[in-house]
Amino acid sequence: MRAELQELLTNAEKTHCIACSACLLGICCRYDGQSKNAGSGLIEVLLKRPVRPSSGPFPVRKLFQQAMRRPDVRLPDPAPILDEMLARGVHPICPELFGCLSCPRLPADFHGGDGQALLGQNAVLIDRAGRDVSQQFLDGARNTLEALAGFGITLAILKEGSPSCGVRRVQCSGVKIPGEGVTSVLLARAGIRRLTEEDFSQDS
Ligand code: SF4
Repeated sequence: MRAELQELLTNAEKTHCIACSACLLGICCRYDGQSKNAGSGLIEVLLKRPVRPSSGPFPVRKLFQQAMRRPDVRLPDPAPILDEMLARGVHPICPELFGCLSCPRLPADFHGGDGQALLGQNAVLIDRAGRDVSQQFLDGARNTLEALAGFGITLAILKEGSPSCGVRRVQCSGVKIPGEGVTSVLLARAGIRRLTEEDFSQDS
């Protein structure tokens, strides 16, 4: 991992609080029921952030707890990871769980554009079974933003390529295109700087 990014993550004065795609932190919330190891020591670096006095309750914790109570969500208890991260000002997010999608779930593709287009009602998200899941993705994005409000989040580390979290590319009609996920767009509109796991894997 590049030294300046490592410094950015561990310097709690520069980045008061951080949001991070939960799947990059070892929470098995991806569509296939797996996590996505960033492969760059991201978790280890985040664990070097100083533990701070609790400023909870944390809305993201409540959203995970609500998801875990649903019968269509099967993932190992994320509480230990949530505790470790929230104590250090890192808020794990999974907009697709927060939008009431199941886990595991079928993958979904944009049709007509990316997250910007979806928010402008010029695109839709369709899952592999042909169901329109646009509303769940929009709900998840808005619930995520609401859960992060008031915590002084300045930086988000997001999973590249995801229809929710992608920053530079997404999948549209089966093809990778330059574009942004729907939650990623709302985070940017809120003034939050976005990086992806790919920024951390360069020169690691
Ligand atoms: S919505 Fe984001 S955090 Fe959740 S599994 Fe997809 S990429 Fe990871």
